[in-house]
Amino acid sequence: MRVAVGLVVCMLLAGIPTTSAQYDPLQQEAWPGEPIDNHIHLTWATLTMEVNDWADTYPDIVDVTSAGESELGKTLWVVRLSDWSMETKEDGTPKEMIYIDGGHHGNEYLGTALAWLTAKWYINEWAEGNEEAINVLQNTEIHILIMLNPDGNDIDTRWNINQVDLNRNYDHYWNTCPTTQPGSSAFSESETSSNSAYMNTYMTDADLYVTMHTGVWIMLYPWGKWPEQPPDWELFHFIRDDVHATVSDIPIQNANQGLYPNCGTSRDYGYGKMGFPTFTFETDDEQFVPGTFESLHDRLEEEMNVMRYLINDVWYWRARLNVQSLTVSGDEVEMTVENLGHASTSNASLQHMDAAGEVVWTSPMFTVNASNVTNVNFDLEMEPFEDGTWGLMYQKRVINASQWVNESINTSSIQINNGKDDNLLTGFGLFNPVSVILSLLGMSVIAKREEDA
Ligand SMILES: [Zn+2]
Repeated sequence: MRVAVGLVVCMLLAGIPTTSAQYDPLQQEAWPGEPIDNHIHLTWATLTMEVNDWADTYPDIVDVTSAGESELGKTLWVVRLSDWSMETKEDGTPKEMIYIDGGHHGNEYLGTALAWLTAKWYINEWAEGNEEAINVLQNTEIHILIMLNPDGNDIDTRWNINQVDLNRNYDHYWNTCPTTQPGSSAFSESETSSNSAYMNTYMTDADLYVTMHTGVWIMLYPWGKWPEQPPDWELFHFIRDDVHATVSDIPIQNANQGLYPNCGTSRDYGYGKMGFPTFTFETDDEQFVPGTFESLHDRLEEEMNVMRYLINDVWYWRARLNVQSLTVSGDEVEMTVENLGHASTSNASLQHMDAAGEVVWTSPMFTVNASNVTNVNFDLEMEPFEDGTWGLMYQKRVINASQWVNESINTSSIQINNGKDDNLLTGFGLFNPVSVILSLLGMSVIAKREEDA
């Protein structure tokens, strides 16, 4: 209470509005909400006004939808940010997809605030003509579920209204470790089942998922369940080292070792079942400095810089194969393929299609390590169709659940030698933005996920 009185005085001096009705959602610096103890509390009602104001004011880049409802029937708002005048990137390829959520634990204000700030930063900066924000929104869709646990948030508790720890309620090794209040079964709670339904409906192709909490200042990657490094350790270690070299000293570790063993978390689910590169972003728990209302932009500036880094470079958070050369001599195939991404792929194959697009030959599987170049040779066991095409099929990351992609190989990289013609390659294609034909295999991916359980 002592602190609260100090805050009220300070608030009056600073002229910060005390009710959400007075709050101007477009004001640059303010974190909306009511001052309580040593922080400002964003209620679900205020958030509801705010996100709908964003959508009304900036329809070109903000679209608000619902992922479902809390146990008490509060809408789980998802703020979707992108330049909606462009259906794809300028080069015709699909935009990168990013998923963010906050507020699993209703008393972790700064984690929820970081989710709010991430949306707010791109809105403000886009409106100001900031090139980085404009570029990101032209090339990316960012979906942010700011407050996953509005019932718990509004009564200032970690749990949801059923006293369940939502971040132990996901269907990934649910209740297989010492844990508290994981619920009666995986996805027993409407908040977590709505979140996973949203991921499985709109986010299957995401190349980044960040779930935001408050506790120790740290970023955690999978696994929480096991002490071992995850299959995509190269990607997580690259990001760790690059963040440390260029952005922030924030510790980045696998969750089991960096925090404590845990299971049924959204992070392990996002990686193990959805195949996303996933981080739990924990802000520290100092909330706000007592007696002040520090600008949230100042308070979370370093965290926001890390988020900007992860979002700016999302293109690299997967395997990105690019065929430098493909030479067919008789029935021998020789290929040089580089991986422009920072994740390895272990199930790649080369395919030859006939004129109708029917796959007539598939190579044995091969691996292309992150940021590496690989040479492979195959016996084609047939004469290639002259009017046929070539493609690569591979998974975006090593984890079983990761999305499959099927990409055509640019003809300028292909050389067919019919015995006497012994020309060298014409096209050591630099970067051939391979056109994505399909990036689906929905059914087999889902089947795979189920096997994984
Ligand atoms: Zn938490």
